[in-house]
Amino acid sequence: MSDQRFDIAIVGGGMVGAALGLALAQRDFSVVLLEARQPPLDWEPGSYDLRVSAISRASQHLLENLGVWQAMLAERVTAYRQMHVWDRAGFGEIHFDAADLSEPDLGHIIENRVTVRALWEAFDATGLTVISPAKVCGLVIGDQDMELQLADRPPLRVGLVVGADGARSQVRQLARIDARNEPYDQHGVVATVRAERGNQATAWQRFMPRGPLALLPIEDELFSIVWSTTPDEATRLCEMSEPSFNASLTQASEARLGALFVLGKRAAFPLSLQHAERYVQPGVALLGDAAHVIHPLAGQGVNLGLLDAGALVDALIAGRESGRPVGALRDLRAYERARKGHNLATQLTMDAFKHLFGNDNSVLSLTRNLGLGLSGRIAPVRRLFERLAMGQGLELPRLSRPAPPR
Ligand SMILES: Cc1cc2nc3c(=O)[nH]c(=O)nc-3n(C[C@H](O)[C@H](O)[C@H](O)COP(=O)(O)OP(=O)(O)OC[C@H]3O[C@@H](n4cnc5c(N)ncnc54)[C@H](O)[C@@H]3O)c2cc1C
Repeated sequence: MSDQRFDIAIVGGGMVGAALGLALAQRDFSVVLLEARQPPLDWEPGSYDLRVSAISRASQHLLENLGVWQAMLAERVTAYRQMHVWDRAGFGEIHFDAADLSEPDLGHIIENRVTVRALWEAFDATGLTVISPAKVCGLVIGDQDMELQLADRPPLRVGLVVGADGARSQVRQLARIDARNEPYDQHGVVATVRAERGNQATAWQRFMPRGPLALLPIEDELFSIVWSTTPDEATRLCEMSEPSFNASLTQASEARLGALFVLGKRAAFPLSLQHAERYVQPGVALLGDAAHVIHPLAGQGVNLGLLDAGALVDALIAGRESGRPVGALRDLRAYERARKGHNLATQLTMDAFKHLFGNDNSVLSLTRNLGLGLSGRIAPVRRLFERLAMGQGLELPRLSRPAPPR
């Protein structure tokens, strides 16, 4: 085994792995973060990341508590105060307003690269060790320590290996943890678009038979869109001319924002539902998309991952305070108990909504026509969206709670 030993190795430095690494390093754990691809920390002014996330209040608190939120606010971070959700024409509509919740906003729309950069830039002030690009090629599980084998450098000896390496997690595979994967027959087409009527700090989501169309405000006149549809249709939408795409998108949004115009590239991501059969085993923990992948319709993927990160920090601190070695199975199990049920419930609820609202089959059409259209389903939908946006309804990890007033 190598002489270089760390308490924790985190594989994957996306939003979730980077947040976990920063939090643990700030709390004096010795941490090494291994990232396969150095993320872009510099970009052309006026360019837009196709990947954006709706960040919940609980995630905002976590980023504030990590000390990176102020740096993010200096970038493009858009508070949205209203959200319109509607079904196919005639089935009703829900309108959410932050004012009704006595909240300043319903959350923030943030380009993923902005979050990643703020977290990575904060590493310098901690003792975190970063290896990037890193190529993991093996994992040996020992009684005390794990050995993480790397392609081009000596192996690392660590107490705990954390897989934060996304949906196709190599750590999950090396640890032989199975994951249930159910591909949706849908791809999410993402693009940045300009709206004739501006964005009015409002998010929009329309449920259609092939999948939901979400328009998330990112600047005065701009939206980032996620248009979930069949794989064939997604390819067509990505390949058609800009004028044809603009016309299709304007029609799909029922021109509620006036005409829509795409800016720059379009891309499509396959969508699936995935859940690891367990999050932990001796010396190994999974979190974020490595543990669970959810349909983007309620914009919850990274929010759930950041709750995982907060819960794992709580569990590791509890272990250290009780004198247990870092990554003791008892503490890993406490982390899994805190998160797995909630992630599973959120995932299944999203899945049910996807089927209920996005389905064109006759039984569902009948229930709608019997008066159980979107308007008849408003109360539970409203409660769910409010809870998710505000991060309410569960015992939040310490990092995800508002910071105590100074
Ligand atoms: C179209 C779309 C829209 C979405 N919108 C939202 C939204 O509005 N709100 C929301 O909360 N979520 C949203 N999501 C989900 C969200 O993007 C993911 O949940 C989130 O990115 C997961 O973060 P992560 O850090 O766990 O994984 P990832 O973002 O996948 O990061 C994993 C990191 O690990 C690295 N890596 C992978 N393999 C290795 C390896 N072997 N060794 C070292 N490093 C490795 C990768 O390079 C990457 O940096 C959306 C997803 C899609 C597809």
